[in-house]
Amino acid sequence: MRFQPGLYASMTGHFIKSSLSGKKKFPLVLMLEPTHRCNLACIGCDRIRTAAKGDLTVAECLNAAKECGAPVVAVTGGEPFIYPGLKDLLEGLFKMGKFVYLCTNGLAAGEGMDQLRPDPKLTLNFHIDGMQATHDQVTNRPGTFQAALAAVKKAKQKGFRVSTNTTVYKNSDLAELESLFGLLTEIKVDGMLISPAFAYQSVENDIFFKKEEIRDKFRRFDPLFKKFPFMNTPIYTDFLQGKREMHCTPWGNPTYSPLGWKSPCYLITDGYYKGFSELIKKTDWKRFEEGLDPRCANCMVHGGYETTVMRIAFRSPREMLRLALWNVQNARK
Ligand code: SF4
Repeated sequence: MRFQPGLYASMTGHFIKSSLSGKKKFPLVLMLEPTHRCNLACIGCDRIRTAAKGDLTVAECLNAAKECGAPVVAVTGGEPFIYPGLKDLLEGLFKMGKFVYLCTNGLAAGEGMDQLRPDPKLTLNFHIDGMQATHDQVTNRPGTFQAALAAVKKAKQKGFRVSTNTTVYKNSDLAELESLFGLLTEIKVDGMLISPAFAYQSVENDIFFKKEEIRDKFRRFDPLFKKFPFMNTPIYTDFLQGKREMHCTPWGNPTYSPLGWKSPCYLITDGYYKGFSELIKKTDWKRFEEGLDPRCANCMVHGGYETTVMRIAFRSPREMLRLALWNVQNARK
């Protein structure tokens, strides 16, 4: 199964309860950045350019999780394993019934995971962008691929649920990605996510896609979609391959960091708000949901669109059944 049954049940319950209570905007995943400090300076990362100096306190993090109400929290950063309050933060989130994806580059995870205990609600999510030469180039430091791989293996041995996230760049080589996904499957990771590289407004580089280039690239992914159990939903991969159109749901995946609630989304920044309700009230969501902002023109990242997938599934029993069947299959049929 690609996602824990409890996670699906929790998301479905949250969706139904929020809809029945008349809420129009209710996030499914909170992107929580307790620290912007990192032990790497990767080439595609904008947090090293826009980083806040101080960390959030554990109480501020838990308050944000409560305020926004999303059933899933992606703890990211910066590098969460160098955040001193990580253990307390996770314990607090589990007490609130949250499912947690702890997103790491793996460098400090080897030691850091000794302080944690495996929990059915916890997934350690390792960022790995290619085989050794590519990954070490993206992270700007030799040895990071081997370090991440060693941490993945250790996490599996210790009984953690493990997934990986791979950013696909314009020049990513399909054969190399197939080798990487084969290797991760051998290690028995529990799931793999892919995301097209998107040019943050603060990062200028020629490694990012235009929308048509994304579609061309992912049309060639069919053999990989059939072979490996990706966690990206089939509705989203249809979108990546240009088989259907979708609008973004930016409020489905809000970001909270030491700078505040980021508006409008994880990728682009028009400002920060102190409170979640202020973010919801003051952001011009229509502009982003309808793709009217020119900065959205080439964006197809899963953060913006997987909530749309859930909204589509809740309107269509056929799509809901498709998602349920996909969740129990090993690969896409
Ligand atoms: S389309 Fe992308 S850049 Fe635009 S609001 Fe959605 S997630 Fe953000």
